[in-house]
Amino acid sequence: MRPPADGAPRARLTVLAGPTAVGKGTVAADVRRRYPQVHLSVSATTRPPRPGEVDGVHYHFVDDARFDELVATGAMLEWAVVHGRHRYGTPAGPVQAALDAGTPVLLEIDLQGARQVREALPDARFVFLAPPSWQELERRLVGRGTESPAERERRLATARVELAAEEEFDVTVVNDDVSRATDDLVLLMGLRPAV
Ligand code: 5GP
Repeated sequence: MRPPADGAPRARLTVLAGPTAVGKGTVAADVRRRYPQVHLSVSATTRPPRPGEVDGVHYHFVDDARFDELVATGAMLEWAVVHGRHRYGTPAGPVQAALDAGTPVLLEIDLQGARQVREALPDARFVFLAPPSWQELERRLVGRGTESPAERERRLATARVELAAEEEFDVTVVNDDVSRATDDLVLLMGLRPAV
């Protein structure tokens, strides 16, 4: 991505990632609601919309052919298959346009995507969203315990690997309270927390 032209405001790209079930989506939704001055990137995905999700707001819901086209034409800043199922990716154009306009940009993406952005844009800031404790993540991951012991063990094994990625990040924000975590995040982005 291009550096800003001389004299242009220097907006920063921030990447928020972290383990499954840590609450990245909830924090991103809180940023959307309370900090409209942040450009929250709208990802493209091949997953079907859930009830209440709006095309172009929560995601750009696309079919496989369209996703292939976005990748083939170089329109994606990064993309990944998440949870071994659907593809998710960040369209590069709107991110570049917002940065050019001096608007701070936030990407809420998975760890594979964060690593790709690190390769492409090492100057971005990488924020790891961490659970308050392993026990709490375990509770959020296995929820009501309706899954089989094998599935439960698979999720926990994935979470252990994901937590180990923390050291790759510039800074950690602990998600013990959503609005506090959001405020910490926007402070790191150079914004003043809302009162
Ligand atoms: P969900 O399907 O629950 O909305 O999201 C599932 C996962 O996809 C989350 O971990 C989220 O961070 C990740 N994700 C959402 N958008 C993107 C994206 O554009 N790129 C990548 N790599 N991951 C994404």
